[in-house]
Amino acid sequence: MRKPILIANWKMNGSLHSNQALLVRMLAKLRPFRKAVDIAICPPFPYLFQVRDLLGYTGIALGAQNASSAVSGAHTGEVSATMLEEMGCRYVLVGHSERRASYYESDTDVAARFRQVVSAGMTPVLCVGETLEEREQNETLAVIERQLRAVIDTTGISSLAGSIVAYEPVWAIGTGKTASPGQVAETHRGIRGFLENCQRGAGDSTRIVYGGSVKAVNAAELFQSEEVDGGLIGGASLQAEEFSAIGSALTGAKPDGSSDSFPPESSGLAIPDS
Ligand code: PEP
Repeated sequence: MRKPILIANWKMNGSLHSNQALLVRMLAKLRPFRKAVDIAICPPFPYLFQVRDLLGYTGIALGAQNASSAVSGAHTGEVSATMLEEMGCRYVLVGHSERRASYYESDTDVAARFRQVVSAGMTPVLCVGETLEEREQNETLAVIERQLRAVIDTTGISSLAGSIVAYEPVWAIGTGKTASPGQVAETHRGIRGFLENCQRGAGDSTRIVYGGSVKAVNAAELFQSEEVDGGLIGGASLQAEEFSAIGSALTGAKPDGSSDSFPPESSGLAIPDS
């Protein structure tokens, strides 16, 4: 069975002060979901150290928002996968649509970044998705298959199957527009079918999460389909109440019955109950 996962993408938001306040509230509120759901927080690079320390032994993982396609050297402004791994990152977003659109990351570039993340021993979260124009022209799956194929051609289907695929329709990210539960389920099914065709078992084993204006009010219906293994959450991950309500919706949609005390008393984190 695939374990559900909730990933917070803070994008370029936060400060030392606000991160601390947000995390203290968030950790308290996420307490009931630790066992049932994997959770990762992806802050901007400068705050990795701070967030890593605040997460401590809570069981919530640290993630990053991108990694360089190069190993090291003369790449001003880039951050290598091995540096991120050294900082304690377990997950790295790769190919987010904001990177593809605003920073011209091509499929080939994204595949090279994916490869570095795998080589450094972390789990890539490969973001794929179509623009509104592409959806209207019935090209959704063709676009996503092209994005997946670039990674498969570079690192192989086994690496992709061990990663996480985030289906993020470009038109739904940060816009307040959400894909309908039917559109999400259908696209996830298409992705799974494509992976299964590439390698038997790959469709079943790969976690496919949805991202695009997920909020407390729409989370339960978006997570309802068995095709959806969790969420990649942008704007709503900047509010403890919203993010934890999304976690609650995910746990309700994929219950496994566990609700240990969290974080462990021994972690030393002084967090309030509400
Ligand atoms: C994202 O940044 O990946 C995202 C899904 O953002 P939002 O939830 O704000 O649409």
